[in-house]
Amino acid sequence: MHCPFCGHPETKVIDSRLAGEGRQVRRRRECLECAERFTTFETAELVVPRLIKSDDRREPFDEEKLRSGMIRALEKRPVSAEQVEAAIARIVHRLRTTGEREVAARLVGDLVMEELKDMDEVAYVRFASVYRRFQDVQEFREAVERLQESSLESREQMSLLGDES
Ligand SMILES: [Zn+2]
Repeated sequence: MHCPFCGHPETKVIDSRLAGEGRQVRRRRECLECAERFTTFETAELVVPRLIKSDDRREPFDEEKLRSGMIRALEKRPVSAEQVEAAIARIVHRLRTTGEREVAARLVGDLVMEELKDMDEVAYVRFASVYRRFQDVQEFREAVERLQESSLESREQMSLLGDES
């Protein structure tokens, strides 16, 4: 880069080290013309794509919005904050690695549903019923049936435990 003091196009690197827990490279540079020294930080550019809403509006990705949506779906469910954060990190990573500058907002919702499905069936149904409004009636029915089966199982397990004591 050009010297920020005199604009000379050539500078030399006199020191280079990792910074920001290894996410950055800090370089100390010296201008070949005026000999002023300055520091640059280099980071990988991993941009989260902007979201294309269904009405074609573009919106920046909002991690806080994603988090609050998931937490709402997971209210009073046995899922730790740590699990939620790990899921969010996976979603953000997948968005970044699309390499796209814009993706359909729906993709984010689909990724959330994928995560919730593995994490907690109740939260999955809650989220899906709000997010997707269950366009697919069959899908909704299946999700609810799975839910009923699993709560039946846990009731049976509880009564078994009750008999033992
Ligand atoms: Zn200079």
